[in-house]
Amino acid sequence: MSDRPTLANIEWDEQGQPLSAAFADVYFSRHNGLAETRHVFIQHNHLAARFAALAPGAHFSIAETGFGTGLNFLAAWQMWQETAPANTRLHFISCEKFPLTRGDLERALSLWPELATLSQALIDAYPEHLGPGIQRLHFGAVSLTLIIDDAAAGLAQLLPCRDERYQETSAKIDAWFLDGFAPSKNPDMWSEALFKTIGDLSHADTTAATFSAAGVVKRGLQAAGFSIAKVAGFGRKREMIRARREPPPTPIEHSRRPFELFQCATQPPDLKQAMVIGAGLAGCHIARALAERGWQVAVLDTHTQPASGGSGNAQGVLYSKLSHKNDTLPRFNLSALLYAQRHYQPFWQQGAGIGEACGVLQLAYSAKTGQQYRAIADPWQQEPWLEWLDEKQASAAAGVQLEHGGLFFPHSGWLNPPAVCGELLNHPQIDYLGGQAVATCDRINGQWQARDSEGELINQAPTAVIACAHYSRGFATLEHLPLKAIRGQVNYLPQTGASGELKTVLCAKGYLAPASDGQHSLGATFNLGETDLTLTPADQSKNLEHLQDFSGALAQAFAPFSDRDLPGRAAFRCTTPDYLPIVGPAPDAQAFARELAPLGKNARAYLDKSAPYHPGLYVMTGFGSRGLAYTPLCAEFLASLMAREPWPLDRELSKALHPARFLLRQMIRG
Ligand code: SAM
Repeated sequence: MSDRPTLANIEWDEQGQPLSAAFADVYFSRHNGLAETRHVFIQHNHLAARFAALAPGAHFSIAETGFGTGLNFLAAWQMWQETAPANTRLHFISCEKFPLTRGDLERALSLWPELATLSQALIDAYPEHLGPGIQRLHFGAVSLTLIIDDAAAGLAQLLPCRDERYQETSAKIDAWFLDGFAPSKNPDMWSEALFKTIGDLSHADTTAATFSAAGVVKRGLQAAGFSIAKVAGFGRKREMIRARREPPPTPIEHSRRPFELFQCATQPPDLKQAMVIGAGLAGCHIARALAERGWQVAVLDTHTQPASGGSGNAQGVLYSKLSHKNDTLPRFNLSALLYAQRHYQPFWQQGAGIGEACGVLQLAYSAKTGQQYRAIADPWQQEPWLEWLDEKQASAAAGVQLEHGGLFFPHSGWLNPPAVCGELLNHPQIDYLGGQAVATCDRINGQWQARDSEGELINQAPTAVIACAHYSRGFATLEHLPLKAIRGQVNYLPQTGASGELKTVLCAKGYLAPASDGQHSLGATFNLGETDLTLTPADQSKNLEHLQDFSGALAQAFAPFSDRDLPGRAAFRCTTPDYLPIVGPAPDAQAFARELAPLGKNARAYLDKSAPYHPGLYVMTGFGSRGLAYTPLCAEFLASLMAREPWPLDRELSKALHPARFLLRQMIRG
């Protein structure tokens, strides 16, 4: 996990208006910030008319430099509410290098009583973690993607690859809000690199507006392919710039770059009908994310009930392994965890056995883990989502005597995955077809056809997502995926007087959840290569051994059950060699080997082509024991990719999930 960002250093003037001490500049006009926003950004991007003209199912994307207090976002959202037709979506993406604390945000937004309802929703959802990275917040059909980073570097993360030739089919921005302090006070932000990215992320009708009329802004926008007009500014400001992207006059000269693997949609954006094979957490999450974008989705599964395989345990723990290092896997883990904690809030609020946001305590069961966990928590002491607790504090949080301290995630907890899947499938755009054993899925006449072992057609659609854990390899198109099935056994322990006091999930080498319906889940074992799902006494003993790592008191409370046959459940997890899931378009392995063969000799070879894919086929698998944590963010990513909307992941993380990464590594290693 990376370094802390610098938070905004705000001074408040006598009218309670925020000023930046570092930049000696205002966040918005002292005269009337909201009126300024409406004049500069809303009016000069023609948002009222453009929102009103959206077709059902369409989305509109705004990107901003400098989120600041969120005033521009709220004003755009309000205009959206007033003008956009039903069944449309708004993406607001904002890049902020010096985020405000929630307290400062609340104070600044209290200036606008007419925005109070929207402000409160933003304040409630404002990220608890203000470290570098991308976080997506949802407000119904409106989503806010906050990128905590420098504007040029952060917005460039929205491009799927560096190679301009292949950026054409990716999501584009419809309107730019160029805020970010005056160029005279903040020259670093208004860089050539920023304007280049703005150009790369724009389409022929993209507009831009900024309060500034400075020469550097004018020249930058012109270099990015915009025609500009100077119009009357707000209040005492004589001029501001509004701009419109012009189609490039001549074909752009592209540099010759080494081959790059990148994520992309492989079907036309108007085909909004999909078949999802597999109804575990992965399949149900992607089905729901597509349905919310207006897609018609059929979900197929061998079992009559969804979540009958690896997602079928009674209590799954929302848990993700972090590190003090800024490596890809822990960075992905943190993004996924924060997204999932927000995503499951409505499920937890329902109560009724679906789960509990009771907190998760990751116990430091050795001196080494203690050191590691302290280093993870150290930079984030001021943030409420993570805490290092010593033994005494940990015992108080858990409600039982513990022998170790640990990392505490107060806003995490456990969930019942089958109930979550049931909720996700409960959507008018989703049909669940249970009891359908899909044997093959091949593309015939532009349709992916799911057939049973007799060759009978079960369902077909122009787009298919295979989300069948390790069974995904059983389809001819995906047999190249290096997926492994690892058996895991959970045992259920009856609640005792002492164990009933347990208030949080405990994790060490295994996990123990607080009681639900009179029993605790204790798990889980790892048995690579075992194919039998019958419960075994050996695995039960392994699970019981873990109790000692949690707490001597709990081990004692459960001692009377140690020689009974405990109930439980065994299932397969599906893992990948790099422990990251596989999410994205399905590569055509044969064409890949043929067309990209020069990479075998030179990994940095220049190839005038992108990787070959099966059109309209996507895959979402390899979640290991992290299905609860990973699938919400991965589904949001995949649905955004398929619908050509901006992504909730940065480019490096999107590549790290790429379904062709193993093929590429294999080819490069020869
Ligand atoms: N749009 C904001 C609002 O609605 O409240 C006001 C923006 S304020 C004028 C400028 C913002 O740009 C500040 O929040 C500041 O921290 C941010 N900023 C300054 N330099 C930046 C950079 N290089 N990259 C990203 N954001 C930057």
